[in-house]
Formats: sequence, structure tokens, C-alpha cells
Amino acid sequence: MTVANEWNFSAGPGALPAEVLDAVQEAIIALPETGMSVLCTSHRSAWFEDLLAEAEANLRDLLAVPATHGIVFLQGGSSLQFSMIPANFAPPSCDDPLYVRSGYWSAKAITEAGCVRPVAVVWDGAAEGFRTLPSAAALAERHADHPRRSAAPAYLHYVSNETVEGLQFAEAPGLADLPRVADMSSDFLSRPADVAAHAFLYAHAQKNLGPAGVTVCVLDRQLLDRVPAGLPPMLDYRTHLQHGSNYNTPPVFGIYVLTLVTRWLRDTIGGVATMQRINQEKAARLYQTLEGLGELVQMHADPRFRSVMNATFRFRDPRLDTLFLEQATAAGFSGLAGHRSLGGLRASLYNAVTPTAVARLCDFLADFAAAHG
Ligand SMILES: *Cc1c(COP(=O)(O)O)cnc(C)c1O
Repeated sequence: MTVANEWNFSAGPGALPAEVLDAVQEAIIALPETGMSVLCTSHRSAWFEDLLAEAEANLRDLLAVPATHGIVFLQGGSSLQFSMIPANFAPPSCDDPLYVRSGYWSAKAITEAGCVRPVAVVWDGAAEGFRTLPSAAALAERHADHPRRSAAPAYLHYVSNETVEGLQFAEAPGLADLPRVADMSSDFLSRPADVAAHAFLYAHAQKNLGPAGVTVCVLDRQLLDRVPAGLPPMLDYRTHLQHGSNYNTPPVFGIYVLTLVTRWLRDTIGGVATMQRINQEKAARLYQTLEGLGELVQMHADPRFRSVMNATFRFRDPRLDTLFLEQATAAGFSGLAGHRSLGGLRASLYNAVTPTAVARLCDFLADFAAAHG
């Protein structure tokens, strides 16, 4: 058996809805609206201007983005945001921005922001192996005790879903009235988000929204007052806002697929609140199955902070991880290996992973455990 889109549990690029893939296949040859291939359509065409407007309108609609916030579509992935954010919003005149270090991706964000300016880590989960997240009280306490505590840090950065470790904040963490900046790459549009409570949030497309190559940034325009003079235009958020995400050639194809995904979320699923319920049901089923395997498997994340998007686990006997991956691949599943930094196994349950696929994975896990327990 070969692997199939239907049984793809990859952490990224992740699964896309079957109906979106069908429409994309058609659009590669000829867009239904114009008759021309999406790959060969000018970013200065009326069709693309309309598409950009629709992409933004759909996101505004799905997430109730307030008028205070602008939306831009950028290239460079979420990783480019790691350095653009401090370069734009924490100029040298600001106090060091604060970072929550809760896993692989927030650690990378800190390292890369550190190339731009000093930053302060307000909470660090490394000593506990990145298995847990801070409560609001824990965050406030660490902040109060921080040796380099300042009165007005530029912002508080956190990763809403740590994709590698499988940890997810149930609610946006915050500190007093510090502007919140969130990397939502791996749970964007998987549930409602309190956009008004964030100064800046960002998510690349390749986990929940489309192919790699486009990153969505939602930002409070008030932040723009901080942007220092002299940034290269491509690295200045104002450039992209002023040009409506069409300054240089944008990733037309990625924005097209993202727009189809937003239509699917609205029309087929019925919005992000319904998506959240479906995602919670999928995750509950998988975690229940894994817990039912008892001593045979070890879960990585503290149960209080288990991610609805990425379930991380391993068999106590590491040989079983290898065997499981072999047999899962033979059965048509894909993407179940853990991140290279953590090992073990990971099942990612992004929006387009269907409840049927999750049910099949759960049955497969239970049968595997029965045969090897
Ligand atoms: C995958 C991932 C990234 C990396 O994004 P790139 O687009 O590859 O730069 C960053 N943050 C989180 C939370 C991720 O899951």
C-alpha cells in the first residue's frame, strides 16, 4: 500500500482538505475565473487583487479581526518573523522584550531575536524537558523575581502551540498590559483567537492553511509608531501594509490555496468554533486511545497542556517506535515520526485531518499494542 493524503499525520507541511486539493489541481492548469494557470497569473492582475482582498476579508470574518488590526501576507516563513518582530517593535529605546521559552520553536524565536537585540526570558521550561507551560500566576511570579526586570518591556512573546513537544496554551498568557505577540503557526484557525488581545500574531501557512511560502501577520497598527527609521523596506512591516501585501511579487499560489482553505473553513466546516469542536473531539479520541495503552506508551506533555494539534508519545521500548513506524507506513499512514530533536512519535491532527482518519489511527494503535503488549 502506498501512503495517501487521507492518512497524513505530518506536523508540517500538513494535510489539506481533499476538496481544496481537487480545486488546486484544476487551477494549476486553468483558474475557473480566468482560464489561465494560477502559476502563470500576474500579481498585478485584477484577479489577484480580488483574491488578496478576499483572503483578508475571510480571515477577518473567521477570526473577528478588529478594525484596529491590519493583515499582511509575507514570505520568509515564521522564522523571518523571529527577527522582524524585534527589529520593528523593540527598537533600542525600548526595554528588553520578554519571551516565554516553552519548547523548540520559542527557543528558536529567542535565539533569533537575540541576533537583533537583547531579550529577556521570563519563563523557561527547559529544566523540565519542555513538558509543561506556565500558569498566569507562575508567569507573574517569575516576572516579579526577574533579575533584569524592567518597567516597560517592549512586548511579551509566546508560542501558542509548541509543535515539537505537543504543548498548547488553552488561553493566551499575559503579563499586566504588555502587548502580546504570538507565534500561532501550528494552531492558527484551529480555534477562535482573541485577536484584540494581541498586538501581533503570526502563522505561516504550511501547518493549517496551505503550502509553505506564505505567512499571515495580524498586527495592531498602533505598533507601527515604534518602527525605527532605516529598516530595509522588505523588513519593515509598514511597506507591506502600505502596499497591501503586493510590494514585490507575493506568493500568488500560496495565497490562492490559503483562500480556498478559508472558504472551506467557512462553507464546509462552518467556522472556527465548529472547527475547534471537531479538533477537540479528534484529540480526545487519540489521547484516550493512548492512555488506554497503559504502561506500553509514554506521553511527552503534561496532561494539563496537551496540544489539540500535535500528540507526542513514544513506546517505552524504543524498538517498538521503529516497528510501529514501519507497520504504519505499510498500512498507508504517514508523518508519524517525532521531530528529529525529540525522537519518539507524533501525530498531528490539523484541521484537514478528518475524524475518520483519526479513528483509523486509533484502531491501528490499539491493534499494534495488542499484538506487541
Ligand atoms: C513549524 C514552525 C515554525 C517554523 O516556521 P517556518 O515557516 O519553517 O520558518 C515556527 N513556529 C512554529 C510554532 C512552528 O510550528
